Amino acid sequence: MLVEDRQGGGHHIGARVAGVPGFDVVSGCSRRQGGRVIVCGETIDDQTRCVHYGTPRDVIAIKFKCCRRYYSCHLCHEHAETHDAAQWTVAERQQKAVLCGVCSTELTIESYLAVESCPSCHAPFNEGCRLHSRLYFED
Ligand SMILES: [Zn+2]
Ligand SMILES: [Zn+2]
Ligand SMILES: [Zn+2]
Repeated sequence: MLVEDRQGGGHHIGARVAGVPGFDVVSGCSRRQGGRVIVCGETIDDQTRCVHYGTPRDVIAIKFKCCRRYYSCHLCHEHAETHDAAQWTVAERQQKAVLCGVCSTELTIESYLAVESCPSCHAPFNEGCRLHSRLYFED
């Protein structure tokens, strides 16, 4: 497997940390590599937690409609991109736009909004995310 370390040493928070099966975590934003899902942002571990949301339950990443990139949160997106975030519409709820950072399953928006834990690995999700879900999804 070809892995390039853009940070050249990875000494600060947000540097690339260990990849896990299914996706890679990178700092800032990046292209897709070899079909693996890339999670962008100021990530602090390999379960998609970031400097903004780092509690045990903060284990999801969101794919943004505007750039089709996964970010740990809206602040990570804002800091790494120069465009405004676009929200998924109600008609697009069948899109797989939520990644479980624990088991790397991609959920549709509809199934994410209907559950409180990962349907695949049962990792609990942070219900606080639901409160600002309209940053990501129209309702
Ligand atoms: Zn974007
Ligand atoms: Zn963040
Ligand atoms: Zn899971």
